[in-house]
Amino acid sequence: MAADAPRSSRPLRAARLDAAGDPFDDATNIGGDRYLEFENLVRRQLELLGEEPARDGLAKTPSRVAKSLTWLTRGYQMDVQDVVGDAVFDEEHHSMVMVRDIELYSMCEHHMLPFFGKAHIAYIPNGKIVGLSKLPRIVEVFSRRLQVQERLTEQVAAAIEDVLKPLGVGVVIEAYHLCMMMRGVEKQNSKTITSALRGAFRDDAKTRDEFLRLAYAPSNPLR
Ligand SMILES: [Zn+2]
Repeated sequence: MAADAPRSSRPLRAARLDAAGDPFDDATNIGGDRYLEFENLVRRQLELLGEEPARDGLAKTPSRVAKSLTWLTRGYQMDVQDVVGDAVFDEEHHSMVMVRDIELYSMCEHHMLPFFGKAHIAYIPNGKIVGLSKLPRIVEVFSRRLQVQERLTEQVAAAIEDVLKPLGVGVVIEAYHLCMMMRGVEKQNSKTITSALRGAFRDDAKTRDEFLRLAYAPSNPLR
């Protein structure tokens, strides 16, 4: 971002990811004025909710919320290219590669409440593969922002397509949304499932069926 960008449009700096201890605490480097402004907003929010921001239990809450929200949305400061780095390798493997049950935490942009669940990702290489641990990191780039699940699913698929130019890519996300769960007992168990299918996963029925069967299979060898 340009150095002369107006202050109001400058995002808070994200926390470093490699810090030990409470990761929220590491969001202290979000910077002077912006940080104070954020704290003041949370303090005002508490007042509007009918609370007394000065009481003991709440005294440090504005600071904590500013740090945690900054950390939970650190995806804005992350970039797929940075995350993948040089972990793309030439490989003449042409069968499906799949990573299942990638833990996912995000926040819905309509209510700023968490949604969480699992992502299942598969692709068919076209001469290149990516280090398996990079797939969860790609999910992080997009999940640690204000999101809707549909867009998140598409963005992950698009990023993998972009990095690997594979013969096909499929992404399924299953998630629980607190904005639904916290508003009524009937919705406690409703899970939202989204999928994004590209290339062979979209065009070839056999590939698509194999992927969806694997993605939805309930078994987990370690549990
Ligand atoms: Zn929501």
